[in-house]
This record gives sequence, structure tokens and C-alpha cells, in this order.
Amino acid sequence: MDSTFRRTPDIHLQDLINGLLQGNRVFLSRAITLIESKRVEDRKMSAELIERIVQPGRKSLRIGITGVPGVGKSTFIEAFGKMLTDIDKKVAVLSIDPSSNRTKGSILGDKTRMDELSRDPNAFIRPSASGSNLGGVASSTREAILLCEAAGFDIIIIETVGVGQSETVVKDMVDYFLLLMLAGGGDELQGIKRGIMEMADHILINKADRQNLKAAKKAKEDYKNAVHLFPPNEAEWVVPVGLCSALEKLGIEATWKEIEKYEKQVITSGWFTENRKRQAIKWFHERIHDRLEESFFSKPAVKNEIKKKEELISSQKISVRKAVEELFS
Ligand code: GDP
Repeated sequence: MDSTFRRTPDIHLQDLINGLLQGNRVFLSRAITLIESKRVEDRKMSAELIERIVQPGRKSLRIGITGVPGVGKSTFIEAFGKMLTDIDKKVAVLSIDPSSNRTKGSILGDKTRMDELSRDPNAFIRPSASGSNLGGVASSTREAILLCEAAGFDIIIIETVGVGQSETVVKDMVDYFLLLMLAGGGDELQGIKRGIMEMADHILINKADRQNLKAAKKAKEDYKNAVHLFPPNEAEWVVPVGLCSALEKLGIEATWKEIEKYEKQVITSGWFTENRKRQAIKWFHERIHDRLEESFFSKPAVKNEIKKKEELISSQKISVRKAVEELFS
């Protein structure tokens, strides 16, 4: 990022905001880089930026997409995103990739995976934020969503790999959660836990094409039966189980139709607003915890004291309970 953007925050912050509100993707990208930054001065500027761009009541739809690696997430997002831009929607794709810390890569790092969509002027694709804790990454993704919305994007897609805790994190920041599955493998085989299936607002069996079609149809019935056994969700939405072929662009529009149906239903019932409120309150509490943790552990005296206590605990000179009590006394 251009360092002059940081040196004179007041003037440049206004430029950034203007560019962002005009829907300029370069400015949007810079704004996201800013909110991801951990530098103290950037944090202040980020707080101001967010404060000034948030437009209460702006209409957007946030869609989470998950599934194991190889299920076809990026192929699906490419086809789905193109279908949406064809009907004049502006689509932003963000991702949460729990593995990106280790590999320094990103599930969306390789832009060629969504080649067509990334060249579409009505789309914006941002590779995953990286960071040492999922909470921090989640928080900057939430703010990135707000930035995308301020830049005029109607549909915000949050992609995550369905292998860890990141699904819960994504579920907590989206209006609709779509789970991509494959036919043929059992749930364990796919690494998908029952909990994730219960979180889903939509189960979509991808690669329902060619020699896979028969197995996909059978899987659809199986998942339908499984979904019936789940307790009803808070949105009072009957989770659809569908088939699609991201590669052959089949079932993409039908998926969007279901999502629109859901949107209508939950806006009417009030769940849409209620859910967003609950998500914001939960986020607020999570941020408080993060900040407390950060400010506590970053104190040199605390670090020192923890080290001393570790030695005392190791040599059994103090109980864990006492050590903790002393740290906070
Ligand atoms: P991701 O890891 O979940 O993002 O999966 P990708 O989108 O990278 O897809 C993994 C592989 O599956 C690629 O070789 C795709 O071409 C292929 N693939 C994706 N969707 C379909 C589909 O609908 N049908 C078939 N036959 N192959 C697909």
C-alpha cells in the first residue's frame, strides 16, 4: 500500500472515502488493506473510516459458501457470480481461509481460479485476510463486508473451506449459509460434521453431471431425509437440498431462486433484521474479549510474571489456581 496514504490521514482518508463511495475497486482494495493493518495509526484511521462509511439500512445480501477443498467452491462462485452480474448485481467475493497462515497462500490467492469473474467490472474478488487468530481475521472480514457494501456491492459472498472452525465464524456474519457437498462420500469422508450441516440454510450437491448424476440424485434424497431430522432452524426455513453442476452451469439459477425466496421470507418475518442485530452484538462481545486479551498479554510486566509463574508451576511450587489468582491481584 502507498505509504503516503498513511502519513496525512485526514486528507487521504477523505480521498479514500470518496473513491470508495464511488465504487472504485482500487480504493476499496486499499481500504481493506487499511482495516487489516495492525499498526496503531492505521487502526485509528480504520475506526474513523468505518464510522464514516457505514450506511444503516443499506440493502445487501451476505452469502456464506463452504465445502471441503475440491468440492467446487471457486467454480461455483465463478458461475454463480457471473449469473448475478448478468442480472446487474454487483458481487464481491471475500474469503476466510484458516490455512492461509501456514501456507502463506490463500484459497483465493490464485486469481485464475475465478478468471472470468475477476475480469468482470461488476465483481470484486479479494483474497483471504491472513492473521494469527481466526477472531482477528473474522473481524477484518466483517469490516471488509461493510466496505464492500459502502462501495455499492449488493451481494457479498464469503467463502471458507469446510474443514475447521471457520464455518461458525462465517455463519455469524452472513444472512444465508450455503453448503456445497459431493455425492458418493459419507459425511465423515467429506470431513463435514453434522454441526455444519445443521448450520446450513441450503445444501447443494455439486458435480451433479455426467457419470455422477445418478449418485448425486441418490445423495440428494439421503440429505433431504437427514435434514428432516434436524431441529427447525431459527429462521423457520425449510432447508432446500439441491443439485448443481458448477462446471456445466446447471442448477445455478435455481439456487439463486431459493436464496431470493429465503430473503423475502426472512425480511417479512423480521428474522433478517433480528439475525443481523444478534450478529452485531455477538461481534461486539468478541471484540471486547479480543481487545482485553491483547492489552493484557502485550504488557511486558505480565509477560514477565507469566514466565515466572510457569517455572513455579513446573517445579510444583505453586498451584495453577494460586498462580492465576496472583496474576490478577
Ligand atoms: P474448491 O477447492 O472447492 O474451490 O474446488 P474447485 O472449484 O477448485 O474445483 C475442484 C475441481 O473440481 C476442479 O478440477 C473443477 O474443474 C472440478 N469441478 C468443479 N465443479 C464441478 C462440477 O460441477 N462438475 C465437475 N464434473 N467437476 C467440477
